[in-house]
Amino acid sequence: MKLPEFEYFSPRDIPSTLELLAIHGAQAALLAGGTDLLVRMKQQLVSPGVVINLKDVEELRGIKKQKDNSLFIGSLTRLTDLLESSVIRKKYPGLYQAVEAVSAPPLQNMGTVGGNLVQETRCLYYNQTAMWRRSKPVCFKAGGSVCNAVKGGKHCFAMYQGDLAPMLIALSAQVVLSRKGESRTIPLEELYTGKGKMPIKKDADELLEGVILPAPDKNTICRYEKLRIRQALDYPLVGVAVCMTLSGDGKVCETGRLVLTAVGSGPVIADDNKLMKGAKISEDWIEKLAEAAYKAAKPVPNVLTPPAYRKRMARVLTRRALNKALEN
Ligand SMILES: Cc1cc2nc3c(=O)[nH]c(=O)nc-3n(C[C@H](O)[C@H](O)[C@H](O)COP(=O)(O)OP(=O)(O)OC[C@H]3O[C@@H](n4cnc5c(N)ncnc54)[C@H](O)[C@@H]3O)c2cc1C
Repeated sequence: MKLPEFEYFSPRDIPSTLELLAIHGAQAALLAGGTDLLVRMKQQLVSPGVVINLKDVEELRGIKKQKDNSLFIGSLTRLTDLLESSVIRKKYPGLYQAVEAVSAPPLQNMGTVGGNLVQETRCLYYNQTAMWRRSKPVCFKAGGSVCNAVKGGKHCFAMYQGDLAPMLIALSAQVVLSRKGESRTIPLEELYTGKGKMPIKKDADELLEGVILPAPDKNTICRYEKLRIRQALDYPLVGVAVCMTLSGDGKVCETGRLVLTAVGSGPVIADDNKLMKGAKISEDWIEKLAEAAYKAAKPVPNVLTPPAYRKRMARVLTRRALNKALEN
């Protein structure tokens, strides 16, 4: 599988990157670790005319504590860098669990935070070689008018399978997006359209500069649970991220978020302070949240395991995530 031809740029700083994006944005792809992009290029799912390599833009790398104790994680920070950071391990253990669950060490060494968040949606019938795909009608994701996964489906159901986004959304993280001459900061959940065909709500000339994590709070507990076929490597079939801030005596959940992945075309917020705010912690309450996850999960048959099983596992993993978070 050869790479298609493209023009290649390797800027050294953010202004030059934004300049290149301003000129070539619509036909350009940003290359970070390449573990998502290069596979899609080799499978001829995308053929960008221009590839802009980010690896020499040192400013985009690293984890920096800010004045208000929040943390800025540059988009080019590798997943391994997060695993090696004592701040992430000690102060954001839920995030550490989510990063550790991504794929396998060789991909964590290459893969970056930005690439992880902006990764494309996937489908068993789409993420295949060009030759394989020729055996099926052209699907919505590839520009056609059928869904090969959902019989009679009227739109693309390709699934978002990132592991970091659910945990970062549960942590109320924000992302910084920049284009030539301006920059904006938005809650991470606003980066996702929830649509399989065009999952990322970002203009073609925008660069994801980094992620802002709220200052750590000793009363906030988080947990990430993931179902996958092979523990050694695979994308999530369901992922559940939960974060909650407890009262001083640990008996009440003051605020919290429950976010799922791999059960829709974007990260799915199953609870945002509706069941979690001010709730007395009890088995009943855990069951209510597990039920909310079950209802919010809308898997379709576009991976190897059946949707009904994955939907049930959203309930099981939510129960497990809450219990484990509360155990510690
Ligand atoms: C076998 C295999 C298993 C995998 N398993 C998992 C898994 O379990 N969980 C998981 O979450 N992921 C998984 N992945 C996907 C991928 O490896 C990771 O998500 C990785 O973190 C992507 O980062 P990257 O830097 O390699 O992205 P790249 O491939 O470089 O980029 C991905 C996308 O993001 C865009 N992009 C990159 N950086 C920026 C930026 N700064 N601003 C704007 N756009 C940007 C690129 O243009 C591209 O469209 C797997 C991949 C493979 C091949």
